[in-house]
Amino acid sequence: MDPIDKLARLLNELPGIGPRQSKRLAYALIVKSKSYTDELSKAIREVRDEVTQCSSCHRYISAKHLSQGLCSICRDMDRDRSLLMIIPRDVDMQNMERSGVYHGLYFVLGGTVPILEKDHQAFIRKAELERLLRSRAEIKEIILAYSQTPEGEHTAFLLKELIPTLGTFAISELGRGLSTGTELEYSDNETLRNALRNRG
Ligand SMILES: [Zn+2]
Repeated sequence: MDPIDKLARLLNELPGIGPRQSKRLAYALIVKSKSYTDELSKAIREVRDEVTQCSSCHRYISAKHLSQGLCSICRDMDRDRSLLMIIPRDVDMQNMERSGVYHGLYFVLGGTVPILEKDHQAFIRKAELERLLRSRAEIKEIILAYSQTPEGEHTAFLLKELIPTLGTFAISELGRGLSTGTELEYSDNETLRNALRNRG
C-alpha cells in the first residue's frame, strides 16, 4: 500500500477524522520537518507506554502521577468522599475540574450507551462501576453528569436502573440543569456551577 494511503487510513480511524480530512492531514505531515514527525511518533509511543488508568476513577493518567494505583484527586482526603460524580469521558472530567465548582470524587464511565444497544459493557465501565459502588460505604450521593443528548439521557436512564441494585444512594442528575443539546465537554464554568446547584 502507498505510504500516504496507509497513513491516511490510520488517521481515518480516529474520532472526528473523515476520509478527506485524513488525506489532508497525511499530506500536511509530509511537508513537516523531520524533527516534528520524530517528536510526534515518540509522543504517540509514550502515550501508549506511560499512560495508565487510576484504579478508582478510571481516568487515564501518566503512571508517574499515580500512587498506590490512585490519582491525585482520588488520594485527596480534603475532597468530599460522600459524593461521587459519574461522568462520561476524561475530557468532561477535566472540564469539570477546571471549573473548580465540584469537590467530590469522580468515576469516568468511558462513554455513553447507544439506544437499543444490549451490550452495555462494550461502551461503558459497567462492571468497574458495580465493583466500586459495592466496595465504598462512604458514598452517599451519586451525581449523574451527562450531556443533554438522546444517548446521554439513555445512559443516565440505564444508570438509574442499575445503581439502586448496588446499594442505598441518593441519585441526582446534572443534566437537568443543562439545556437540551448541551454537550458537557463544552459547558462553561457558570453553566456547570448552575447545573450542580440545580441538580435534582
Ligand atoms: Zn482517580
